[in-house]
Amino acid sequence: MGHLVVHGGEKFAESVIIDDQVLEAIEACNDLAPLHNPANLIGINACRKLMPGTPMVAVFDTAFHQTMPQEAYMYGLPVEYYEKYKIRRYGFHGTSHSYVSRRAAEVLGVPYESLKTIVCHLGNGASVSAVKNGKCVDTSMGLTPLEGLIMGTRSGDIDPAIIEFLAHKENKSIDEIMTVLNKKSGVLGLSNNLSSDFRDLEDGYHRGDAYAICAMKTFSYRVAKYIGAYAAAMNGVDLICFTAGVGENAPLVRTLVCEYLGYLGVTIDQEANSKRGEDIVISTPDSRTKVMVIPTNEELAIARETVRLV
Ligand code: AMP
Repeated sequence: MGHLVVHGGEKFAESVIIDDQVLEAIEACNDLAPLHNPANLIGINACRKLMPGTPMVAVFDTAFHQTMPQEAYMYGLPVEYYEKYKIRRYGFHGTSHSYVSRRAAEVLGVPYESLKTIVCHLGNGASVSAVKNGKCVDTSMGLTPLEGLIMGTRSGDIDPAIIEFLAHKENKSIDEIMTVLNKKSGVLGLSNNLSSDFRDLEDGYHRGDAYAICAMKTFSYRVAKYIGAYAAAMNGVDLICFTAGVGENAPLVRTLVCEYLGYLGVTIDQEANSKRGEDIVISTPDSRTKVMVIPTNEELAIARETVRLV
């Protein structure tokens, strides 16, 4: 049985067979993912009780990103906070970033280790990763899944001083501000509470709703900025992949993002871009950087890891 565990901290750079020691180590990461890891542990413990003797594997959503170099994972904070509390960038959606970057190389028939790939996992939660020669070198989520892109309801990157400013102006506690940043922000907040669902935002965009237009454009601009940053981090990019609910199903978002990528020689084949549900190249044959849509499949990736280990 394979289990997805959200946070493996610095302890787990790959999947492991679950034993009592592993359970303790997962529990030690609870602080880093208080909403997710305790729930993951409940699932694992229930399954161990129901199916004693069945080998269980933990696949960590942070593991793929453990290859990031120090300059990518350190924050510009006093180093004692890293040493005491392990405050650093971890990144999430690793199972998806790993699956999609590998699958894209397989579809193209090119060795995985030869490519510089940027994966845009755009769903309700959203993150970008830079995968150089088969290893993750940077990703947009951080200590928690709040950093980086603008998401369905999460703010992504903001000036950290906004937290104090808002706390004073609105007389809110830190917990209340965190609820705003996690649950009331993102495209939901930007669209003036129209929706966090990109289907509604796309309708609003075509209707000419100014808030929906702002949400779609701001979301896409942020994705394009991360692509630029990761092209710099890898000193180039061969391939850009879109995946997850929005990345796989919203041609408009892909178009808005790719409009910023002329300097990478990206040109999009709009007929291919309108297709759904398949691994497909959506850039034109003469596009200098290839662009693909690869439907993610975290369940398959977890199943494969589980089979490999047991
Ligand atoms: P995920 O978190 O990967 O399951 O993605 C969920 C999000 O995908 C939803 O909130 C929708 O905004 C988006 N989505 C799903 N289907 C479509 C679609 N046909 N067009 C645009 N967005 C979609």
